Amino acid sequence: MHSFALARADDQAKAVAAHAHDPHLAFIAGGTDLIGLIKDRATLPERLLDINHLPDMARIEPLPDGGLRIGALAHMSDVAADMEVRRRFPVIAEALLFAASGQLRNMATVGGNIMQRTRCAYFRDEDDLPCNKRRPGSGCSALHGLNRNHAIFGWSDACVATNPSDLAVALAALDAVVIVRGPTGQRSIRFTDFHRLPGSTPERDNVLERGDLIVAIEAPARPEGGASHYLKVRDRQSYEFALVSLAAAVATDDRRIRSARLALGGVAHKPWRLTAAESALRGASLDDSDALKSAIAESFADARPLAHNAFKVELAQRVALRALQTAGARA
Ligand SMILES: Cc1cc2nc3c(=O)[nH]c(=O)nc-3n(C[C@H](O)[C@H](O)[C@H](O)COP(=O)(O)OP(=O)(O)OC[C@H]3O[C@@H](n4cnc5c(N)ncnc54)[C@H](O)[C@@H]3O)c2cc1C
Ligand code: SF4
Repeated sequence: MHSFALARADDQAKAVAAHAHDPHLAFIAGGTDLIGLIKDRATLPERLLDINHLPDMARIEPLPDGGLRIGALAHMSDVAADMEVRRRFPVIAEALLFAASGQLRNMATVGGNIMQRTRCAYFRDEDDLPCNKRRPGSGCSALHGLNRNHAIFGWSDACVATNPSDLAVALAALDAVVIVRGPTGQRSIRFTDFHRLPGSTPERDNVLERGDLIVAIEAPARPEGGASHYLKVRDRQSYEFALVSLAAAVATDDRRIRSARLALGGVAHKPWRLTAAESALRGASLDDSDALKSAIAESFADARPLAHNAFKVELAQRVALRALQTAGARA
């Protein structure tokens, strides 16, 4: 086991400064991903800074306008059980409840959840197989290897991995915002801009820089928020990562869609918004399955499946239809 020093942070500014000045230091929250990564030797920090005791970062606060602010240190289980979260944004509560196991959700934080790294088996393999995300420039074993669980959108020859976070899919659909404190102060990052596509630098999962601490996530009030749903397809019913998942939120006028928000998980290096489908769905009747199907299909024209995951193209469209109809039934 790799050895490391452990310290506890009690002040946000000091935590940010320590991270900014020390390239070998990592924040640790629940530790449910980071410790696994260390065991797999995918990351080997020399110092861990425990951020669990930073003040005011675990609160779940309903905002007066109908939105929600979730502290980065709030535990997944607490957020999933919160009555205001369930009432305002059922899609967030459902995405969390379908993620990991009860024990993991009690430890894991929402900040850590959106920062978790891909489950690509080559990336996690302690034998250090070629993997550009783990060792830049070494190649991508999945591109022509076992890629059943990998991307069908937005991949590059350098990396075909998917983002494993369920919560991130719900937050992308809602156009949430990540509140970050860095060495130069606080800033907001649109959730859809938070995670990156791999391009030629797949070692970078997101746009955070050294010294950046996620403080909170804000979901703004949305007319679609209450009529929302998360549907996840996985290889087994107990805890498992998504093969394909979909977050849907919809606003209707008498069963006609006024606006829809759709984001897919398990298909790309970041949550994948179905923007073409969202436009095409405007005005469609929730009772007209054929119209819904052809609107959803508009977002799949640029799907690029790999050798072993072509099934995701059809599966994702079915999941989108079902999730949209279930969200619509709540409108
Ligand atoms: C067996 C298993 C099954 C799982 N299944 C699922 C699943 O189905 N769906 C799903 O979504 N997830 C799943 N997970 C992942 C799990 O949800 C994550 O491990 C967890 O959410 C990470 O949160 P944490 O607080 O433990 O993060 P940590 O492990 O403490 O940290 C993870 C990363 O985030 C960074 N970090 C943490 N907090 C902050 C912050 N505030 N600011 C900046 N950086 C920060 C850390 O430095 C580290 O790099 C599973 C995990 C396991 C082990
Ligand atoms: S898909 Fe990405 S994470 Fe997986 S082997 Fe290729 S470079 Fe590594």
